[in-house]
Amino acid sequence: MSAKEIRIDENLISTALEKSARVDSVRVEEVLAKASELKGLNDEDIAVLMNISDPVLMGKLFDTAKEAKDTIYGRRLVIFAPLYISNLCANECSYCAFRASNPDVHRRALRQEEIAQEVSMLEKQGHKRILMVAGESYPQEGFDYVLNSIDTIYGVREGKGEIRRVNVNIAPLTDDEFKRLKERNIGTYQVFQETYHRDTYKKVHIKGKKTDYDWRITSLDRAMEAGINDVGIGVLYGLYDWRYETLAMMQHIRHLEDAYGVGPHTISVPRMEPAIGSDLASHPPQPIDDVTFRKLVAIIRLAVPYTGIIMSTRETANIRRETFALGVSQISAGSRTNPGGYSEGEKQDDTFAQFQLGDHRELDEVIRDVAGMGYIPSFCTGCYRLGRTGQDFMDLAKPGAIKAHCAPNALSTFMEYLIDYASPETRAIGEKAIEDELADMAPAIRERSQTMLDKIRSGERDVYV
Ligand code: SAM
Ligand code: SF4
Repeated sequence: MSAKEIRIDENLISTALEKSARVDSVRVEEVLAKASELKGLNDEDIAVLMNISDPVLMGKLFDTAKEAKDTIYGRRLVIFAPLYISNLCANECSYCAFRASNPDVHRRALRQEEIAQEVSMLEKQGHKRILMVAGESYPQEGFDYVLNSIDTIYGVREGKGEIRRVNVNIAPLTDDEFKRLKERNIGTYQVFQETYHRDTYKKVHIKGKKTDYDWRITSLDRAMEAGINDVGIGVLYGLYDWRYETLAMMQHIRHLEDAYGVGPHTISVPRMEPAIGSDLASHPPQPIDDVTFRKLVAIIRLAVPYTGIIMSTRETANIRRETFALGVSQISAGSRTNPGGYSEGEKQDDTFAQFQLGDHRELDEVIRDVAGMGYIPSFCTGCYRLGRTGQDFMDLAKPGAIKAHCAPNALSTFMEYLIDYASPETRAIGEKAIEDELADMAPAIRERSQTMLDKIRSGERDVYV
């Protein structure tokens, strides 16, 4: 099979699920002991954890996931904001407000000046990382619109603000387009398969290029072959059985690892939310409840310990808080999913938006909350700017060496935020979180961090190792 062909093997999935249909506590303990070694899990192990329902075993699963998260990521939580540049779309995904035939959504593709305006609003809040998002239909310039938009984002300087990493979530591209995207210096390219189940895929993708399952599932191969080695993967949970989807996603991950020596940099776990003009979005065929959702995050953390997990503002503040401990490593904050939403102020206009948000808090409030819980919000972009991506990143991450970079970088970028953007209340809580973190560090890393923090306090910016 060539790298660009990938077939989800349904037999592997059903065998794993059947074998683990009756779970006993001895087997669960065995899997959790294996998971603690942080070397990942196979399909049968994962299926065993999926079948846990006993509250005591569930508690043990959560504890093991917490330990894994702690060991690998410490208290860091990377912060980013999505930037929707356009809601034009030629596809007909029945769960999405942007689908072509939806008369209830107002269409808008931001002009470059409007994108710059949005970015300047985000910079004023203190954001350094943007996830650029668009529907699959670009204004007159075609694909150049995407490339120009990235240039615009990197070009905006608002006071001390700048965007240091642009990740993108746009429809699958051709080989040539991926090469051009790579030249734009993007961070991660994300695309979610939505559902790995072909029949379900066919039912919910009714028109347009997105009807082609294979074009979508092979898009990360094309990205990798074009040299974009940080890719993001995901399932839209709610369309089909979460257990099937997750095991299929594991096959996709193994395919990337086998073909390119490195799996995805991040996994997103979007759950379907109500979307204007979509009945399906309000009544997901296979919804995933909150307890199962937490279990899912814990399982992914243990199955692929070194892959980042992204939790968006689709989820409520409470669910987000609970999943940080279970393995989430990146969160969006203060998000708008309507093009122009940051410039238009307080209230999101749902007639432009892709779906409803669960967490409407502004960045400062999220940072205060997260820091109050003892986490260190990180705006770090060091790895990508020093070329530590793909395999190089994993080679450092696996033996735990990345910590010597991430921990000080998280503190220096957090301090930058606290000094330049935070409200007094947030700053006080944040500085206390930094002190606590320093106190827990190994001496050499503490010393390195303190030197970097001193530089930030004396006015230097963008300090990273
Ligand atoms: N249009 C591109 C595509 O489909 O790949 C770019 C990304 S789309 C704007 C971002 C993601 O939003 C989709 O991949 C899908 O998983 C998610 N999404 C769509 N409708 C949603 C809904 N109702 N609730 C939650 N997420 C949704
Ligand atoms: Fe368009 Fe993406 Fe929405 Fe589908 S999910 S309708 S492709 S924006």
